[in-house]
Amino acid sequence: MRKAMVSLGLVVGMSMLAGSPLLAQTTAEVTLTRLDGGTPPAPLEVNARFSDTYAYPGLKLQFVYSCYLVKHGNDYMVWDTGQSMSAGPVAPKVGLVDLLAQMKVTPEQVKYIGISHYHGDHIGQANSLPKATLLIGKGDWDVLTSAKPPAGVNPQLVSNWISGGGNVEPVPQDKDVFGDGTVVMLYTPGHTPGHHSLLVRLAQMGPVILSGDFAHFNENYESNGVPIFNTDRAQTLASIDRIKKIAANSKATLIIQHDARDVAKLPAFPESAR
Ligand SMILES: [Zn+2]
Repeated sequence: MRKAMVSLGLVVGMSMLAGSPLLAQTTAEVTLTRLDGGTPPAPLEVNARFSDTYAYPGLKLQFVYSCYLVKHGNDYMVWDTGQSMSAGPVAPKVGLVDLLAQMKVTPEQVKYIGISHYHGDHIGQANSLPKATLLIGKGDWDVLTSAKPPAGVNPQLVSNWISGGGNVEPVPQDKDVFGDGTVVMLYTPGHTPGHHSLLVRLAQMGPVILSGDFAHFNENYESNGVPIFNTDRAQTLASIDRIKKIAANSKATLIIQHDARDVAKLPAFPESAR
């Protein structure tokens, strides 16, 4: 079954590139590594803020902040940048640039920063990779660059791109980042107006979906739970439905970025899934 799907993917990919000199380069190896982006000091009572239907009385969960490194051939993309190093008790112990250095990757080698959404726990260290092109949902970029961003949105964390210091590409819908279907930003709005999740197709592990915050933990994914602070309830439900269908159709592994129970779905840093 998986073999059949892989060959189908190759046929589609090849037909798209027919006649292209890039044809010989379509088999870029893709790897995926989780990078720590900080940890809340204690488990969190989720009922108050993460359900608008009072669905989880008494449930306490350990959250984590997650970033990821995607290697595609010789190119690198960082997906989400965790908490800022000045975020106090939730700040990462080791910064993103130092984690990359442990993998022998310099900031200059990072071609793209893909951002799931504008919250500070996802854009905290973006400015530490100023040469990267910023890929961010158009709806979220519009909010970050608006005259009066809402409370809780801190444009300073992406000041490098707002000031014109780096290239930014606002993403209105889905985006096939490397043009070969292996790394695709999936438009999953509702948590924020321009929210995205990331689909990474790995040769050995199969497809992996990095959630962003379309869902914050397994319970609200499974029971269609909607946090009270999401920007659009109906869009959130539609996005959960979309990911459930993609996950089922492509037999993908879903990794909910804030759920500590999902960390072990990838090899422990600095090992990479392939
Ligand atoms: Zn978050």
